[in-house]
Amino acid sequence: MNSFFKRIWNPIRNFLGLRRHTSYERSYLNTANIRMSLYMSFIIITVEIWMIIRGMVENVIPTMNNAGNTTSFMELFFMNTSQYWLFLFAAASMLTLAINFLVEKSAKFKEKWHTKKMIVPLVFSIILIIFSFSFFNELKYFKAWDLRYNRVSNLGVIFLYLFAFLLGLSIVIHIWYNNKYGKKHIAFSILTLILFSAMCLAFGVKVGYTDFFSRFYSGTGLPKEVKGEVSVGGLPLYEIKSIICFLTMVTYVGALLIWKPYISILMLTFVFGIFGALLNGDPANRVFADGDKINYITFYISLTIIAVSIYQQRISEAKKSENLEYRAKYDTLTPLHNYGYYVGKVGDLLKTIPDKMDDYCYIFINIQNFKTYNDQMGFEEGTKFLINFAKKIKELFGKLSAREADDHFVAFDKREGLEEKINELNQLIISDAHGLYLNLKVGIVKPISVDEDINTSVDRARYAALTIKNIYSSIIAEYDDRMHDIYKKKQYVVNHLDEAIEKNYIKVYYQPVVWSSDRKLCGCEALARWIDPKYGFLSPGDFIPVLEEVKLIHKLDAAIFELVCKDLRNSLDAGKPVVPVSLNFSRLDFELMDAVKVFEDLIEKYQIPKDYVHVEITESALNSNLELLQSCMDKLSKDGFSIWLDDFGSGYSSLNVLKDFHFDVLKIDMKFLTNFEKKPVSKVILDAIIKLSEKIGMLTLTEGVETQAQADFLSEIGCGRLQGYLFGKPLPIETLEEDIKNGKYIVSDEII
Ligand code: C2E
Ligand code: CA
Ligand code: CA
Repeated sequence: MNSFFKRIWNPIRNFLGLRRHTSYERSYLNTANIRMSLYMSFIIITVEIWMIIRGMVENVIPTMNNAGNTTSFMELFFMNTSQYWLFLFAAASMLTLAINFLVEKSAKFKEKWHTKKMIVPLVFSIILIIFSFSFFNELKYFKAWDLRYNRVSNLGVIFLYLFAFLLGLSIVIHIWYNNKYGKKHIAFSILTLILFSAMCLAFGVKVGYTDFFSRFYSGTGLPKEVKGEVSVGGLPLYEIKSIICFLTMVTYVGALLIWKPYISILMLTFVFGIFGALLNGDPANRVFADGDKINYITFYISLTIIAVSIYQQRISEAKKSENLEYRAKYDTLTPLHNYGYYVGKVGDLLKTIPDKMDDYCYIFINIQNFKTYNDQMGFEEGTKFLINFAKKIKELFGKLSAREADDHFVAFDKREGLEEKINELNQLIISDAHGLYLNLKVGIVKPISVDEDINTSVDRARYAALTIKNIYSSIIAEYDDRMHDIYKKKQYVVNHLDEAIEKNYIKVYYQPVVWSSDRKLCGCEALARWIDPKYGFLSPGDFIPVLEEVKLIHKLDAAIFELVCKDLRNSLDAGKPVVPVSLNFSRLDFELMDAVKVFEDLIEKYQIPKDYVHVEITESALNSNLELLQSCMDKLSKDGFSIWLDDFGSGYSSLNVLKDFHFDVLKIDMKFLTNFEKKPVSKVILDAIIKLSEKIGMLTLTEGVETQAQADFLSEIGCGRLQGYLFGKPLPIETLEEDIKNGKYIVSDEII
């Protein structure tokens, strides 16, 4: 029943506009009304000027020419035109006020616009107020109160002047308010529009009514009370006009005051009702013929519907643009602003606090491990968590906070008291985590200059947060000089990768791999080095993680593949002894480029026998996008390449991985060898891994072999290949070749 009622009531409610407008809708409608008042007052000004000129030509000039008349010029000047003047001043103040309002609204002109411009509407409205006192002059023309016809006419004039006076007053107050508080109040806009409309209606009713009857009376002869008073030069004064004046004024008001439909309906019903009743109830009611009545009512209905439909249209436009405006400012998920808006606002703020900048800081907030929460609790719960978290951020940091992306948030706030706020945020994390391990990581950085790049600063705060990623007890990290150096280096890497590849700053070093049985050289691993003119020697640790982070790693890897192919080709061509090279594939290589194709094309281009290159894929690669990885591996396998699992045992999905993927060689992570002597259990583990690999048909290689004891043990338990500083560090190709030549390495005949 309830929902049935709602289904009927809701459309009616919407049609009538019986719901609260949002403040956006209110201001949108107000602006639209003001824009309309601009057009309308412009029309009125034109019409009034025309009417005044016409009045002069018809009345003033003939009277002036009439010798011996005693009327003063001023009197003649305003004679019969004073109501037009009244409208002229009212429309002029409306027009200038509307222009002022609209210009201030438009951001484009705002800065050039000064409040002084309010002077113009102020002057007009003061003139309007003063001029409204000419009402007392009009009294002269008042008709005897006894006839209803006269009463309507007199009341029309009284109300016209009264509303004009109030309108002038309301505009003056409006301007005063605006000056005092520096903003406009919507109530004054509405009041101004209503008073202006009321003026029009008073005028329309008065003129329309008197007209209607004077037309009628003039045909058959005016009744005696009316005759003498309203005629000028022997002509009935209002004869030329008609009820059209009323209709014009009502239409005008209908268009001007598009407010809630029920208000439009009530207003128009009221006005049409009063006017209709006046016409109808007059002793001469037979004039209001049935045909006219039908037209009258049709006109009323059409006008009402037009007003309502304009309203509906404006509201739907308002909603649309509100939506757009909302999207431009707010995050899609949480009640926070979006990042773009934040950047703009912080930029604005910085300009206003050049001396106090040091008191403030950028704040980057990351919820570490949030992915686990999402996985365990489900996406919906995850969203709820983020919204709740965002609310807290908004509460703590106010407007200058935003969601940057995913579970990353940013804020800009005073440095003082920050720790307490972060603590409060952390409490929320702990209480909302449902026992899961979530960790807050916050990076902060102070602004340096008024016109700095906000993105860079946020990036630095992000970087600071990243530095405490693995330090459980740390929540806040402040960006310092040391970080700045590292950060600069990172930026440098990102910005100079292409150049480094092009100018051959990127080199391949080869680390020997030997058979455990005879320690003869059976291969080597290609490891990237960046020898930079500015930073000198860079290890993969300096650039690989950065390049992965910014998703540029594939460029480096493609370059390394090619360098290796070239080296192999040269050695083969020169008839030098050659061993297979294993290449490191980043997980991202498969996502960022068609890695298989890039790799195989190079093999093809340099005519490298497939046995001479091995593909290394690290265990951590097996965490994501498994389908893609699986299909790439299948292709490589099918095409005859040997695939090696790098860093086996460094992560936690190891054993599972062996079930789902096939690898030719297992590279056992060097972690197993740390504290080798002190921890006998590591021997047991290594032994077990080797046995396991044998059982599932995979060959083995242990990385990071540094001591003879380690090597001997590994040989003993049957690990096939060994790699580590004991046998050699990564070397440039020339050094490696030299070492082969001078017998340090003996190249094995067997390479598989
Ligand atoms: P990784 O693939 O596990 O390479 C082995 C790393 O261990 C190399 O470090 C090597 O120098 C080091 N190492 C070898 N033997 C020993 C030893 O006995 N003791 C110790 N302490 N370390 C040893 P490097 O060259 O710094 O490379 C680090 C990582 O960077 C590599 O680990 C690999 O994941 C990545 N990487 C290197 N070059 C490339 C590349 O061209 N492409 C990609 N995607 N990653 C690369
Ligand atoms: Ca490797
Ligand atoms: Ca490794």
